[in-house]
Amino acid sequence: MAIRNVRYDTDEVLRKRSREIEEIDNKIRELALDMIDTMYKYDGVGLAAPQVGILKRIIVIDPGTGPRVLINPVITKKSGSQTGEEGCLSSPNVFGNVDRPKTVTVEYFDIDGKKQTIKAEDLEAVILCHEIDHLDGILFLDKAYDVYKLSDEEIEAAKREAEELERKEQEKAKKNKKCKRK
Ligand SMILES: [Zn+2]
Repeated sequence: MAIRNVRYDTDEVLRKRSREIEEIDNKIRELALDMIDTMYKYDGVGLAAPQVGILKRIIVIDPGTGPRVLINPVITKKSGSQTGEEGCLSSPNVFGNVDRPKTVTVEYFDIDGKKQTIKAEDLEAVILCHEIDHLDGILFLDKAYDVYKLSDEEIEAAKREAEELERKEQEKAKKNKKCKRK
């Protein structure tokens, strides 16, 4: 397993259509594991193969329920609508609102080559739409409005805040341990 290099939004590879995967071999399985590692390394909730420079139709997602690999995913049904703020590992620190369906049905093959159907809603539906768009060379910024970019100072402040929060949580965990020992 390895962390792959993420491609950024001016990279031409992000604008190309990815090809269907015909055979799920060891190379694809390795790619899937690397994509999961890369997604977690950058605190992402989804990643599409073109974002690591591979023009194949495979995405990984984790809406908070664990990682899922989707090969040749196709949206077969959409309903409702929702609007939410999105970001992208390929466009660091840029955010914007995007209108998406509220629920989607997606057909795909899992890593064992088994055909699966998933009905997703809310955040999971957003992630699936965002990642499947990547397979067609579409970026969320093509659809986003009220787009903004965090300044270097804001990024630093957010980082400090996250570190402070983590420090507090560790302290709390330590205290809990002490209590339990009694
Ligand atoms: Zn993205």
